[in-house]
Amino acid sequence: SDLSHIRNFSIIAHIDHGKSTLADRMLELTHTVDERKMREQVLDAMDLERERGITIKTHPVTMKYKAQDGHTYRFNLMDTPGHVDFSYEVSRSLAACEGVILVVDAAQGVEAQTVSNAFLAAGENLVIIPVLNKIDLPSALTEESAAQLEDLLAIEAEECIRVSAKTGGGVGEVMERIVRDIPPPEGSAEEQAPFSALVFDSKYDPYQGAVVYVRIFNGRVRRGDRIRAMSTGRDYEVKGVGLFSPDPRPTDALSAGDVGYLTANIKDASEISIGDTVTRTNRPVEKPLPGFQEIHPMVFAGVYPMDTADYEKLGASLEKLRLNDSAFSYQNESSAALGLGYRCGFLGLLHMEVTIERLRREFDLDIITTYPGVVYRVHLTDGRTLEIDNPVLWPETTQIASVDEPMIKVYIICLNDHIGDMMQLVMERRGTVTHTDTIDAKRLMLTCRLPLNEVLIDFYDKLKSVSRGYSSMDYEYLGYEEADLVKMDILVHGEPVDAFATIVHREKAPAQGRRICQALKDVIPRQAFSVPLQAAINGNIVARETIRQYRKDVTAKCYGGDITRKRKLLEKQKAGKKKMKQIGQVSIPQEAFIRVLKTE
Ligand code: GDP
Ligand code: MG
Repeated sequence: SDLSHIRNFSIIAHIDHGKSTLADRMLELTHTVDERKMREQVLDAMDLERERGITIKTHPVTMKYKAQDGHTYRFNLMDTPGHVDFSYEVSRSLAACEGVILVVDAAQGVEAQTVSNAFLAAGENLVIIPVLNKIDLPSALTEESAAQLEDLLAIEAEECIRVSAKTGGGVGEVMERIVRDIPPPEGSAEEQAPFSALVFDSKYDPYQGAVVYVRIFNGRVRRGDRIRAMSTGRDYEVKGVGLFSPDPRPTDALSAGDVGYLTANIKDASEISIGDTVTRTNRPVEKPLPGFQEIHPMVFAGVYPMDTADYEKLGASLEKLRLNDSAFSYQNESSAALGLGYRCGFLGLLHMEVTIERLRREFDLDIITTYPGVVYRVHLTDGRTLEIDNPVLWPETTQIASVDEPMIKVYIICLNDHIGDMMQLVMERRGTVTHTDTIDAKRLMLTCRLPLNEVLIDFYDKLKSVSRGYSSMDYEYLGYEEADLVKMDILVHGEPVDAFATIVHREKAPAQGRRICQALKDVIPRQAFSVPLQAAINGNIVARETIRQYRKDVTAKCYGGDITRKRKLLEKQKAGKKKMKQIGQVSIPQEAFIRVLKTE
């Protein structure tokens, strides 16, 4: 077959700039989806995606487009998520493409993720087709947005296509430009050619096993062929191949240039890793394709069942989640305060939030999560280096030579009026502004260096409130850097509570300790004795609060009253106790864990 009529591309943009809507118009224009089945954002399949209006998983889809030159082209489109936590999904889909459509909301102009995504595409040497979207809006500043693309990203203003993904205006021109500007895939689709395919995603199906999403780079594959996963050397027999249109549709074969799926009775999704090269056992390639950067979870937290009886169920649910999300990791852990649970790794806070939400909904579980943290590199005095993602495993101070923490490069776009507040926010979080760029008369871009740990909790919320919503940010990882970090324990009535232990910068410890103690004071009920709450580093108290003792008997006010009322009260107290965790002599309500772990 002829590769000259294939075009593989992604749509990239800042969140809400209209990627999914543009994809919808393309599906309509090419009659890929039955009109009766057409609903908004067809490709955002997960319920959560629809609700939050974000794309979480990349959805490939194949379309047939009859171009003005009379030829019919096969377009393989990858819609991508816009949020930073999922940027690994973006880089995966980019590796399967020859070009991208860079969408910019003309009413908003260039935003932080426009910049980071464009850099990512340029880094892969992909052709960029710039699109200014939402030109139907009266507030659209189309020419200004074009000028920003030119100034910041060196994309020529006259190259930009003016589009309304809402009305469909300009979408035809986008289709023609895809034909004209994006190069067809290279490689040979001949039966005899050595076979290579890049695995860019996989999905677990209880009947077929792993459904492996592939971009074929060379050769051909069909049902019955024997294939080999190059990273493991394991062989499989192909049970089925097909395209996404957008639902999976079986085909005879997949050949060079195609984006589709294959199934091969792969029972455990972890046997096939993202970025792996699949070859044919009897027509192997010598070297695997350049894979992706391996994805490492960057944010860790303990996940515990509210009800200890749910421990097994939680484990089974995590296993199912992991099958569909190779970026997520988990392992057993136990906490003196919370019992048996799991240490989970996520790509970022949104990934964590989305995963926890899926556990609650899809698996009907009540869970507690501990304070999220990053992975530290702890250099010991004996020369060893430990990677630590859990404060409980922090070594004794005397054993530690130095500690490194992960750093990020952050792009912040904001109004000129807010620059003072932004710089202050960055400094408070131990960051530095390394660069400022003017975007237009009103806005500028700050490029900063910050510790990842400092943006984890509520940096984004603070940024939004400082700027009253008129700002955006995105980040990329820079690597590790030394910092003066210590473990802070929280003691309740003299007992350290492991779930509350955190790693903090030495200078920030007193303030952070005070916040946690105050939050605990508000939620732990008074006891029959006074309860000191302390934050300590190495046994030295850096903050403290006291819960005064409680004198009144709950049933006292029922004095002389009827006995049923008294019994009811006692029963209520008993039920309340069930949701308490006993720490030494003190009962801490579950709510305390949630409250403390949620406040900064
Ligand atoms: P994504 O996050 O980039 O996938 O953005 P969506 O496609 O979900 O669009 C975000 C919002 O912008 C939705 O409410 C869309 O209806 C709206 N939208 C997208 N394109 C246009 C457009 O051309 N004009 C107008 N007025 N609204 C649009
Ligand atoms: Mg979307």
